[in-house]
Amino acid sequence: MSVRFVIDSLDYVRNARVHHGRISPAEFTRLQSYLFDSYGELEYTVSGLLDEYSRPTICILIKGEINLCCQRCLGKLAHTLDLQTNLLLVKNEAELEQNDEDDTVDSILVSSEMDVPGLVEDEIILSFSISLCHQEGKCSTELSANHQVVDKKLREHPFAALAELKKTH
Ligand SMILES: [Zn+2]
Repeated sequence: MSVRFVIDSLDYVRNARVHHGRISPAEFTRLQSYLFDSYGELEYTVSGLLDEYSRPTICILIKGEINLCCQRCLGKLAHTLDLQTNLLLVKNEAELEQNDEDDTVDSILVSSEMDVPGLVEDEIILSFSISLCHQEGKCSTELSANHQVVDKKLREHPFAALAELKKTH
């Protein structure tokens, strides 16, 4: 089941609206490639507010636990999310570009149909560090051994190993 929940972002700010929701990781399509399984549930809060400079802002809070795939051994990597992001609402692409140059501000275009689950998913994916791995020495040995075999084959017979990978995936 796909969730579609849209909000009018300016209306959220004007009326200081708040929305709480829960969502299963299984419902995020783009997140799937990072997930080990669909364990867990994410809690999120989306609220409209004015920041300290009285600029319209959408605040997103995300909390929960999910199981990611370790990029090294492909084993289960428990990951806790506890995110807070403020997104400044801007009226047009020019303002968006202007803010892109400022690393301290994240901004988003004003929309009367802001896709909330999509935003939550974006924030989760953006929060991942480059290396989603177990700590050194904590990888699943069985799986990493398998991986090494493929690595070795790749070095020796790149095309044969690739063909093999295609078969198994
Ligand atoms: Zn690992």
